[in-house]
Amino acid sequence: MIDQVTIGRIQDAAQIVEVVSDFVTLRRRGVNYVGLCPFHEDRTPSFSVSPTKNICKCFSCGEGGTPIHFVMKHEQLTYYEALKYLAKKYNIEVIEKEYTDEERQAQSDRESMFILNEYARDYFEKILHTHPEGKAVGLSYFRERGFRDDIIKKFQLGYSLEQRDAFSVEAQKAGYKQDYLLKTGLSMGGEQGRPLVDRFRGRVLFPVHTLSGKVVAFGGRILKKVENTGKYVNSPESEIYSKSSELYGIYFAKSAIVKQDKCFLVEGYTDVISMHQAGIENVVASSGTALTGGQIRAIHRFSENITVLYDGDAAGINAALRGIDLLLEDGMNVKVVLLPDGEDPDSFAKKQNAESFHKYIQENESDFIRFKTELLLEQVGDDPIKRAGLISNVVESISLIPNSIKRSVYAQECSLLLNMDERVLINEINRIRKRNYERKRDQKEKEAARSEARGDTRANGGNGAGAAANASFGTPKGVPVTPANPYERYELAILRYVVRYGNTPLYRKFEEQKRGEGGKVIHENVLVEVGPGVTEFIHFDLDRDKIQFTHPLYLQMFEEACEHMTDAQFESPRYFLSHPDPSVSKLASELISDRYHLSKIHAKILGEEEGDKDSRLLEENLLNSHVPRATTELKNAYVLQKIKEVTEKLKTSEPVNHLSLISELKQLQEIKKVLSKELGERIVLRY
Ligand SMILES: [Zn+2]
Repeated sequence: MIDQVTIGRIQDAAQIVEVVSDFVTLRRRGVNYVGLCPFHEDRTPSFSVSPTKNICKCFSCGEGGTPIHFVMKHEQLTYYEALKYLAKKYNIEVIEKEYTDEERQAQSDRESMFILNEYARDYFEKILHTHPEGKAVGLSYFRERGFRDDIIKKFQLGYSLEQRDAFSVEAQKAGYKQDYLLKTGLSMGGEQGRPLVDRFRGRVLFPVHTLSGKVVAFGGRILKKVENTGKYVNSPESEIYSKSSELYGIYFAKSAIVKQDKCFLVEGYTDVISMHQAGIENVVASSGTALTGGQIRAIHRFSENITVLYDGDAAGINAALRGIDLLLEDGMNVKVVLLPDGEDPDSFAKKQNAESFHKYIQENESDFIRFKTELLLEQVGDDPIKRAGLISNVVESISLIPNSIKRSVYAQECSLLLNMDERVLINEINRIRKRNYERKRDQKEKEAARSEARGDTRANGGNGAGAAANASFGTPKGVPVTPANPYERYELAILRYVVRYGNTPLYRKFEEQKRGEGGKVIHENVLVEVGPGVTEFIHFDLDRDKIQFTHPLYLQMFEEACEHMTDAQFESPRYFLSHPDPSVSKLASELISDRYHLSKIHAKILGEEEGDKDSRLLEENLLNSHVPRATTELKNAYVLQKIKEVTEKLKTSEPVNHLSLISELKQLQEIKKVLSKELGERIVLRY
């Protein structure tokens, strides 16, 4: 598939800050960068990116890793797909050998679906621009709508012919399997050997892109009047497409959203395209559905500020009001712009250029809470019951805002608008917040109880071998909570030193020497002794007690480190982080990045940058005591386990064996005593 040399080039080229920045807005903090974590509902930036270590890590949910891990997790790609993604980003040529039938079969379904969608996008585009029907019907429709050719190209718009199976036949001729044609929803039918038909026939097509520009779905608009068909038909949900988590236009909008620190939200495909044409590129569409949490997080990662554009009709506004509460709850600053009567963003943008459009926005943008309050006030008139309903409706929205200062500003403003005592509003807001909190807590408890009843062990599933073997990222926090055997956690603790410090000496001994030279006395620290390297020491110390790692992945990593333990140039962290086996590099990144956690206290005192450096220095100076302690702890675990076993045996075995068992037990107790003493005192290698 991809040769090792190319993988190495990709790993060297991929810069974590650049890779993450394509999906998350990062701010510099000291030597690192921080941003909102894309893997959990993050409201304060928990996601830390370290350019020097070339890894990322979420303090809160524990996700992260190398650039490859990040892309795998974020874009839901396999290891292989992630490599290809990064190769493309960094213009690294990937020479792939021809697939055999077997390999083709082995390719993941997801990848096949993406490849097919790409083929379909190109096919429909070609039809639009070169086929007589495509030009006469599709292209002329787009031009009539006023779309410029460069915009039609940019959004990769296409056309699907009227002929009921034109695409399906062509795609099958090109070697695409019926299975994937059906799974992507591009084709329908095919039962009992019947031929496939096209889903989008006679429609112009809008490809829907992911954040990274892959086509996950199509939206098709019909041009003729046909009974019993919707104006728009979309790809069905599939393994690669979940309607509720995609935003139309996000791929084209993300950098403009960051630059302007603002995102416009509209409803449809053509709204997005017309606004781009008018020069406003920070715009996405929810494609008609109410906004979902996933969509909001996708926007929030790039900006806190969102402005929703509505066409003037009241029905539309009222329906949209509910979706907005989710935005408030996520801590976004929500504004609303009503377009002039009879205009939608599409038609309005056509009459504007970027400058006049922005001017209109500026003059007509109003804060959402104020907008909602005024709108409802207009609707309820003087009816006191309706008025009470209105107040609780507005208060519900305010109480969702996570920031307490913002909440109190709104309470103040609304008390004026509603002509009410501010304190009454604040009390009501607090009551609702308490109620919401309790509801959430109860729900969580119920879920926990349910998962316990199911015997759900996901929460403490082993990290290393299990999750790592298939290179998934399921387990938070890196370190297994319940190890499968009593040794694994000690093995992991030892491996941590191996990966982080490799051949760093356990200690260096200096001696102060005074040298008189022409009457001058010079003090000089002279290196007189260097301790063994970390890996070398561990190898020696465990080997003499015949102890081997039990965890297969830890064992593999330790043995690889041992192969290099006499090589002075060997850089252990780099070696493991760029390891071709993703389960190895993933674990390495976890072991290396927990330095962040260690340094938290120091960071508080010294500032983040200093703290990080400081804890590293601190630990490096203590290797001499910490590493022998880690190996002793593992030995201790073996002795304790052995004692347990012998005690059990003593209970069940024949009396003739008792004597020898008791003597064995005695011996073990002696060893235990020695080890405990060592662990109780501080073990320091003598020098
Ligand atoms: Zn997170």
